[in-house]
Amino acid sequence: MIELKGVSYIYPNGNKVLEEIDIRIEKGSFTTILGDNGSGKSTLIRHMNGLLKPSVGVVSVCGMDTASSTDIWEIRQTVGMVFQDPHSQAVGATVEEDVAFGPENLALENDEIRIRVTNAIANVGLEGLEGYLLMYLSGGQLQKTAIAGVLAMAPEILIFDEVTSMLDSDSRSQIIDIVRQLNKRGKTVVYVTHHMEEALFADRVILLENGSIESDGAPRDVFREIDASGRKVPPHLELAFRLQDAGMISPDVFPMDALSLKE
Ligand code: ADP
Repeated sequence: MIELKGVSYIYPNGNKVLEEIDIRIEKGSFTTILGDNGSGKSTLIRHMNGLLKPSVGVVSVCGMDTASSTDIWEIRQTVGMVFQDPHSQAVGATVEEDVAFGPENLALENDEIRIRVTNAIANVGLEGLEGYLLMYLSGGQLQKTAIAGVLAMAPEILIFDEVTSMLDSDSRSQIIDIVRQLNKRGKTVVYVTHHMEEALFADRVILLENGSIESDGAPRDVFREIDASGRKVPPHLELAFRLQDAGMISPDVFPMDALSLKE
C-alpha cells in the first residue's frame, strides 16, 4: 500500500530529519508511529501522501510514486489526513457543509455527495448535529467533523497526526474508538502519537527516535524494548497489561477507561 525505501529528508534550512527510513504499510493494517516531540513523526507521515518528497529514496502509494507530479492528485485522494488542531481544519459553517466540502470539490453527483456526507457523519457518531454551527461545537465534536470530512473523500488509507492531543480524556477515547472502528471496517490506518497508551491497539508500532526507526513490532514487544533501554513505560500501562493478562480487563477496552473505572 505505502512503501518508503531508503528515505532521508533534509529541510531547506539544512536540518536533516529523516535518516534512511524503510517502511512497508500493508493494506488493512493499523500502524502506530510513536515518538517524542521532534522525533520526525510529522515529517515522516507527510511523505506518505506526497506533502513532502524525499531528499533521498522513494515513496510509493498503491504503486504510485509521490515524486511524480502526474500521480499526486490520485495519491492525495487515496491517503486522507487528519491533523492535530480541530479548529484549523474547519472549512464550512455547519457540520454538514464542512463534511460536504471535499466531495463537492470532486464535482460528484449531488446524490453521491449526500450519501457520502450522511455515511461519514454516521461513522463518527454525529447524527443529529448536521445543521449545527461549527463555532458551537466542542473540540472533540470538531475533530469528529474533521474525520468525517476526510472520510467523505473515500480514501483507502487514513493518517491521523496527534489527533487527540488537544482533546479532553472523554473525547480522546471516543476518537480512538472511531479510529479503531474505521480500521475494523477495512480502512488502512496510520496513527501518530507520543502517548504510549494510544499505541496499544495497533497491529504494529514503529518507534521513531531522532529521525530513525528505533524499534518496529507488536506493541508489547516495542514497549518491552523501550523498558529494556532504560526508558520508563508509564506505570498505569504496566498495570493495564497485568490486568489484561489476569483477565480482569478485556484487551478490547481502552485501558485508561478501564483503569479510571477502578479509581
Ligand atoms: P514530531 O512530529 O515527531 O514532533 P517533526 O517532524 O514535526 O517531529 O519535527 C522533526 C524535526 O524537524 C524537529 O527538530 C523540527 O524542529 C524540525 N522541523 C520541522 N519542520 C521544519 C521545517 N519546516 N524546517 C526545518 N526544520 C523543521
